[in-house]
Amino acid sequence: MATYDLVILGAGSGGYAAALRGSQLGLKVALIERDVLGGTCLHRGCIPTKALLHAGEIADSVRESAVFGVKSNLLGIDMPQVNDYKDGVVNRLYKGLQGLVKHRGVDYVTGNGKFVGPNKVMVGDQVFEGKHVVLATGSFPKSLPNLEVDGNQVINSEHALKLSKVPASVIILGGGVIGVEFASVWKSLGAEVTIIEGLPRLVPAEDEAVSKAMERAFRKRGINFSTGVRFAGVDKTKHGVVAKLEDGQTFAADLMLVAVGRGSATRNQGFEETGLEFDGELIKVNENLQTNLANVYAVGDIVRGPQLAHKGFQEGIFVAEHIKGLNPRVIDVTAIPRVVYSEPEVASVGLNESAAKEKYGADQLRTVQYDLAGNGKSQILRTAGFIKLIALKNGGQIVGIHMIGSRVGELLAEAQLMYSWDASPEDVAPYIHAHPTMSEAMGEAAMALSGKPLHTHD
Ligand SMILES: Cc1cc2nc3c(=O)[nH]c(=O)nc-3n(C[C@H](O)[C@H](O)[C@H](O)COP(=O)(O)OP(=O)(O)OC[C@H]3O[C@@H](n4cnc5c(N)ncnc54)[C@H](O)[C@@H]3O)c2cc1C
Repeated sequence: MATYDLVILGAGSGGYAAALRGSQLGLKVALIERDVLGGTCLHRGCIPTKALLHAGEIADSVRESAVFGVKSNLLGIDMPQVNDYKDGVVNRLYKGLQGLVKHRGVDYVTGNGKFVGPNKVMVGDQVFEGKHVVLATGSFPKSLPNLEVDGNQVINSEHALKLSKVPASVIILGGGVIGVEFASVWKSLGAEVTIIEGLPRLVPAEDEAVSKAMERAFRKRGINFSTGVRFAGVDKTKHGVVAKLEDGQTFAADLMLVAVGRGSATRNQGFEETGLEFDGELIKVNENLQTNLANVYAVGDIVRGPQLAHKGFQEGIFVAEHIKGLNPRVIDVTAIPRVVYSEPEVASVGLNESAAKEKYGADQLRTVQYDLAGNGKSQILRTAGFIKLIALKNGGQIVGIHMIGSRVGELLAEAQLMYSWDASPEDVAPYIHAHPTMSEAMGEAAMALSGKPLHTHD
């Protein structure tokens, strides 16, 4: 039996962050992984999708170049070459991560682990005992009851990342983050795209104004979508698929991507047998990410909060520091920044307007929506969109920031500091934003909300 300070099950964003920080703090760490170091984000999520989105952005730039006076012709999309580029990015990062884990002295164990006791994980017949255990088994693409994902005509995001050609037409079931990102990629690469979302709007977790702007932008891009009517089923035909809605509408395409959310990989891991408490399909944790079993923590997609890689990183770091007794700051789930990397991008932190109204009361809020039409850099890039700030009245702090437009994800770092440091618009307004940058729009929004707008018709 091998003994450690810290045994980690799962080497995705949450697990490997705990391993790296733990070893940095002098803990003896075992990191157990049955597939590949880096998990979903590096191999099947964040990185490959963003590489595809970048290839799509280049295709759009070529298509639209004449608007800027640059003549060009888009000769076509060489999908194997796009995949080479995408895989090259993943592989370089994967190599770097492997080197880092080795350099930090983490014992990396390949194999399917099973949690067998409060402080033990078994891999085959080998037992890894830890003074502390971190569960970080992540998530998998979900489907709907009676909807079979065959990997051919009906696919999930993992299959979508491996397609060797751009489908001529595609239906995307689900208008959340993963759905709209793939819609954006495939439209840019030349496919006919239709999104089916059962809730009343695209990106339904975002502020309503953002959803409306996203729908406008997608309509302009020629991305079709249906919202507010539930999916009823799909028929496979010789030529593709026909998706049916509950109101009788049908949509035909080459294939259908199922993007209806991700399930937590908490079953068949030994978790139930050891008496771990669940919260639905998630592992129940307290604010310190401790489970009901002593010295057992859980992080990442298997615990409450948004399923995001940077949440997993932060939780992994937190747990290692908590084990070491460093008293790390409890993670504020509302302060976790969120980006949808479609064109246009969506970026937000804090509460959306309806949640802010519910929490504080509508009469306690002041809101501004600064239109990117007034922002020089946005005009140069020819992007539309806005920055919406929601703050408490009477000089109170900012409680939500919501943005849409090309590249607004890059503005989120400032937004997150404003939110997390409880800044008021009056605190932010005196700071100078370089001209012409998109970040000026953040300053303008703060200026407008603090009663001294500059480039705004008031
Ligand atoms: C298409 C897509 C795009 C995304 N884009 C973004 C994005 O742009 N930004 C962002 O922040 N997030 C994004 N995400 C989400 C992000 O990938 C996840 O939130 C993140 O990977 C979660 O990290 P994790 O450590 O909890 O789990 P995972 O990364 O899923 O890692 C869990 C690991 O545990 C291993 N494992 C499970 N059970 C066992 C076992 N019994 N034994 C051994 N190993 C085991 C798995 O093999 C896996 O490697 C995206 C996800 C998808 C699917």
